[in-house]
Amino acid sequence: MFKNARIKLTLWYLLIIMVISISFSVVIYRSLVSEVERFDQIQRTRIEIRFGYAAPTVTVDPSLIEETERRIVVTLVFINVIILAVSGLIGYFLAGITLAPISEMIDEQNRFISDASHELGTPLTSLKTAFEVYLREKKPTIEESKTLATESIEEVNKLQTLSSSLLTLARHEKPIVNTKIEKISLKEVVNSAVKQVNNMAHEKEISIACSDDVVKLISNVKVYGDKDSLEQLLVIILDNAIKYSTKESSIEIKTAKSDHHVLISVTDHGIGIAKEDLPHIFDRFYRTDMARSRKATGGYGLGLSIARKIVEEHGGSINVKSEINKGSTFEISLPL
Ligand code: ADP
Repeated sequence: MFKNARIKLTLWYLLIIMVISISFSVVIYRSLVSEVERFDQIQRTRIEIRFGYAAPTVTVDPSLIEETERRIVVTLVFINVIILAVSGLIGYFLAGITLAPISEMIDEQNRFISDASHELGTPLTSLKTAFEVYLREKKPTIEESKTLATESIEEVNKLQTLSSSLLTLARHEKPIVNTKIEKISLKEVVNSAVKQVNNMAHEKEISIACSDDVVKLISNVKVYGDKDSLEQLLVIILDNAIKYSTKESSIEIKTAKSDHHVLISVTDHGIGIAKEDLPHIFDRFYRTDMARSRKATGGYGLGLSIARKIVEEHGGSINVKSEINKGSTFEISLPL
């Protein structure tokens, strides 16, 4: 498909270039021919002035004029053939460059669809199997029915989480046209995000510390962006920090400010991320083996890819430093 599109685009480039080139050639041909005629006219006038009698209608040998015109045509055709060949090659090359991002986007979309279908398939298969087993029971007890219903609700909840994460990711794939960009207080964003994860932190007896200095600094910092998205970004990072920490540990939020950027860092003392996993954790559906083995954490590996999209939308960057069994620090830098 890509090759066909490339050839079609090359042909369109060629058509445009050749229309321009041939039009120019016609103009050049006409002006050269009229120059020859003008030269003939000047010659006649000179003869009349010099010798005082009317000059013959044609002073230059007609076969010479014909030969000149023929040479002009041959030269112009030759130049056009060269332009056709050179612009064909350049056009093919440029068409490749033009179509490369589109082709990448299509590949990316196809990967997205197949990843999403695969992830949606797992809970659906598990639901189907549970129902099939239930139906095979001749006289299912109330207890069995209740177990089935409970397990089914769990799977449906998982599907709901997955579909809403997929929707969020798809929303952030588009450029921010519908998002409200406003001047927002960083303090409000941090407070609101911490509030949203507080219950989860309490359950694991994890403390989220934000020192007085940090509170003072963020009270004066305003960033341009979409409030909901920035809150969501911090919730994802804090939610992970809690999910991948052991009970009774702590999480620290720190900030720093330079002339043009504000840096927000979230440090946990949890399971950490292996070096070989670090380059991949922002990829869609990527989960480390350690995360997969912890059934209680759930998750589909979509949070950090959403986080990265939000940061990129705001012209910032996100980095991670981590050591296995010691903890991780996620650093978000946002332009002021
Ligand atoms: P998930 O829903 O699995 O948490 P994310 O995209 O948020 O998906 O994270 C991707 C993977 O990165 C996680 O599965 C986990 O392996 C790893 N990860 C993210 N944050 C942390 C953290 N704070 N500590 C340890 N591992 C983490």
